Amino acid sequence: MRIALIAHDKKKPEIIQFAIAYKYVLKDHQLYATGTTGKRITEETNLPIHRFQSGPLGGDQQIGAMIANNEMDVVIFFRDPLTAQPHEPDVSALMRLCDVHLIPLATNIAAAEIIIRGLERGDFEWRKTINKQKESDK
Ligand code: PGA
Repeated sequence: MRIALIAHDKKKPEIIQFAIAYKYVLKDHQLYATGTTGKRITEETNLPIHRFQSGPLGGDQQIGAMIANNEMDVVIFFRDPLTAQPHEPDVSALMRLCDVHLIPLATNIAAAEIIIRGLERGDFEWRKTINKQKESDK
C-alpha cells in the first residue's frame, strides 16, 4: 500500500513515536511524506520515505495530486487543530480529496492506530481491487 505521512509542527514528536512503534508494519509499504515530516521520520527510524515539498510550500497539494490520480491508498495526517496554519486551504483540500476518492484518512494518533492495525490485518486489500479497476479503465 502507498501511505502518506504528514504532521504539523507540534505533532511531529507524536508521528515520530507512531512511526517508531509501527515501523514493523510501515516497513512493508511504500511511504510518502511532506518534506520535514519525512526527514524527521527517516532520521529516527531509517525507513525509506519519498519526500515531497514541505507542507506550506505545496507538499500537501502534491500528495493531493497523487490521491486524485489514484496513486495513494492511505493518509495519516496528524493535524494540529489549535494552531493557525498558513496553508489551511491546502489542508482542507487534501482532506476533501480523501473523501472524494474514499481514501482512509486518520487525522490523529487514535485513528491512525486503528488504521495501522487494519493494515496489518489486511483490511485495506480492497484498495488493490480498486487500483486494478482504475488502471484497466485508463
Ligand atoms: P512538513 O509539512 O512535513 O514539511 O512540516 C507538514 C505540513 O505542515 O503540512
